[in-house]
Amino acid sequence: MISIKNLHAKVEDKAILKGLNLEIGPGEVHAIMGPNGAGKSTLGNVLAGRDGYEVTEGSVVLNGKELLELEAEERAREGLFLAFQYPVEIPGVSNLEFLKASVDAVRAHQGKDALDSVNFLKMAREKIKSVNLDQSFLKRGVNEGFSGGEKKRNELMQMMMLEPKLCILDETDSGLDIDALQVVAQGVNAMRDPNRSFIVVTHYQRLLDYIVPDYVHVLAGGRIVKTGGKELALELEEKGYGWLENEAQ
Ligand code: ADP
Ligand code: MG
Ligand code: MG
Repeated sequence: MISIKNLHAKVEDKAILKGLNLEIGPGEVHAIMGPNGAGKSTLGNVLAGRDGYEVTEGSVVLNGKELLELEAEERAREGLFLAFQYPVEIPGVSNLEFLKASVDAVRAHQGKDALDSVNFLKMAREKIKSVNLDQSFLKRGVNEGFSGGEKKRNELMQMMMLEPKLCILDETDSGLDIDALQVVAQGVNAMRDPNRSFIVVTHYQRLLDYIVPDYVHVLAGGRIVKTGGKELALELEEKGYGWLENEAQ
């Protein structure tokens, strides 16, 4: 599904990712944990093709296609979705218009017709309800004046509408109260599918009680230095990351 090999990337001329390898199969949820500044967000941004990240070596293949050669928009059309790090505000463009344009672009890329407005609206109403946002959020400017939790729920809703193949969730839990966290986790769990994979970046084991991963990885020093099952998150919570320092060298 996605194969990351020997990925090296720089930010502002500083090497951050230093030979990162990660294989993610269809339907799998991989959690990534690690110390502050390890490069977790950099990994998400590099995969999504955000500006300011220079890949110096390596490959990232999603469903047989080399992602690193594609522009950010093309990667999104290939089914990649990066959530929660930088929710964009687009004043003047309603959530509904934005969603319709995004979904139509993805469908066109897949050779499918655009959804008719009636069906689209019906689907948008169902999804916004499922993330516990009022229907009025569909008419508001994208993320305009939304609280942190509302932005996250809105972005989850976008993700549900776009039906990506690879969802990358960064700092899913930061700024969410426990109820909002459960709404987001339920939404993510409802999206789990044999043909969809997830990378969930988190600082806290707690999130993984709600979104139960198949694998937990530790990213330190720009590489994956340890991989385990969900019990690894508990071990990290208990022991911290210091004991892995030698492996990060
Ligand atoms: P994590 O998400 O694991 O906490 P990041 O990927 O955000 O770590 O950051 C990794 C390193 O890259 C940090 O040292 C951070 O300061 C640096 N970094 C990330 N983005 C930028 C940027 N835009 N400009 C300069 N340094 C950056
Ligand atoms: Mg950070
Ligand atoms: Mg981060």
